[in-house]
Amino acid sequence: MSKIIVLGAGVVGVTSAYFLACAGNEVVVIDKNPDAAMDCSYANGGQLSYSHIETWAARNSLLAMVKAAILPGSFLSVSDFSNKKFWRFVAEFYKNSATEKSLQNSKNLFTLSSYSKEALQQILKEETKLKFDYKKEGILHFYRTQKSFEQATKNAEFSNLLGCETQILNAEECVRKESALVKLFDEKKLVGGIFYPQDASGNSAAFTRSLAQICQKKFGVVFEYNTNVKNILTNYKKITGINSDRGVFTANNYVYALGAGGLRLLSGINVETGIYPVKGHSLSISCDQEFVAPHLAMTDLENKVVYSRLGNVFRVAGTVEFRGSSSQKNPQQISFLKNIVSSSFSEFGNFNQVEEWHGFRPFRPNSLPLVCEVKKYGNLFLNTGHGSLGWTLAAGSGKVLSELVSGKGDQRFSFLEI
Ligand SMILES: Cc1cc2nc3c(=O)[nH]c(=O)nc-3n(C[C@H](O)[C@H](O)[C@H](O)COP(=O)(O)OP(=O)(O)OC[C@H]3O[C@@H](n4cnc5c(N)ncnc54)[C@H](O)[C@@H]3O)c2cc1C
Repeated sequence: MSKIIVLGAGVVGVTSAYFLACAGNEVVVIDKNPDAAMDCSYANGGQLSYSHIETWAARNSLLAMVKAAILPGSFLSVSDFSNKKFWRFVAEFYKNSATEKSLQNSKNLFTLSSYSKEALQQILKEETKLKFDYKKEGILHFYRTQKSFEQATKNAEFSNLLGCETQILNAEECVRKESALVKLFDEKKLVGGIFYPQDASGNSAAFTRSLAQICQKKFGVVFEYNTNVKNILTNYKKITGINSDRGVFTANNYVYALGAGGLRLLSGINVETGIYPVKGHSLSISCDQEFVAPHLAMTDLENKVVYSRLGNVFRVAGTVEFRGSSSQKNPQQISFLKNIVSSSFSEFGNFNQVEEWHGFRPFRPNSLPLVCEVKKYGNLFLNTGHGSLGWTLAAGSGKVLSELVSGKGDQRFSFLEI
């Protein structure tokens, strides 16, 4: 048994802590916030989109992204032009968009997402008290233009080859799956959709907090909340401790799961991850009546917006902002989300009771996280960089991480190394 410090109580840190504790380790989790999941895992899109394996970096979507960046009022906004890290990200993103490379990245993503689907089922089987508005009813991707529907249908053929289940639907069939799409249908703005029956949705913050409590009560994991990590201490061969505003914490092994919030700490010990903090926004719209607002989890890929129904909350999430770590909410992007909702659905809950939120996706140019040992330190492991799929990939990544720490690394996941 070894003592392990997990840095970060987001969905990735807590699932790592869970699997590490299950394997018999003594685990301490450190987080600056007073509770788990108060950062990027707080109000994300809620989708467990195991089949959504197209990476953002792909030649056939580059032009659309450039257009969106130029067009005012779109889902994409860029203003970090003087930051070298932004340009390094753009260069790597472009390299990863080469067809062969992006297909390989998608295959790798599918390997990890399939493993994550199984790992979540393993957790659910063991921990029957977990409550997080989990719905295993699939996700519908709908399209407004023939061109993007045809492109998506082609992409779906590739996903089928990997073993991903899809159903191609015409506009009427989409409305039959989710009646709230009738507005787009009536306005002739719905051409069809692809339904992914294996996908699911759930509240990532509720899951993370519920699992953190299980970690604490069942396995004795210690959560050191309200503890801001200032730097990671090394003797150049090993990590020797974690320096925080509440003193120094030590262990045998250390796991970095601070998401986009702790990148400066890694730079401080010369560990470069290529992660860029890509800001996104969400709306949590309260629905008083049972039937108001869509029930099925859906994705509007042309606008990069995802929808989930989490109990009595209709969650709308999306937007992409490259503005470094500037913590301000972008009112234009909030308006973009509100406009998309009101122009897509006639009934969607109460806009007067909406919680607006933003978070930073820890994004890598190839859309793949890092779940690996940092070789130069030996006792430092990374579980970070999950970008737009951290909720989907957390369970599998936590399990891969735990196996790595136990010295039982699985070769299938060697693509998650630095
Ligand atoms: C708008 C939006 C929509 C999204 N929708 C989806 C979706 O539908 N499906 C999906 O799979 N993914 C989605 N994601 C992505 C997902 O939310 C993230 O990938 C995931 O939450 C990252 O989890 P994490 O644990 O790595 O990071 P975080 O949740 O950010 O956790 C990091 C933790 O580290 C702590 N921390 C940071 N710095 C310090 C420090 N110095 N000292 C101590 N503690 C510190 C923070 O308090 C935080 O608790 C979305 C993201 C956004 C922004």
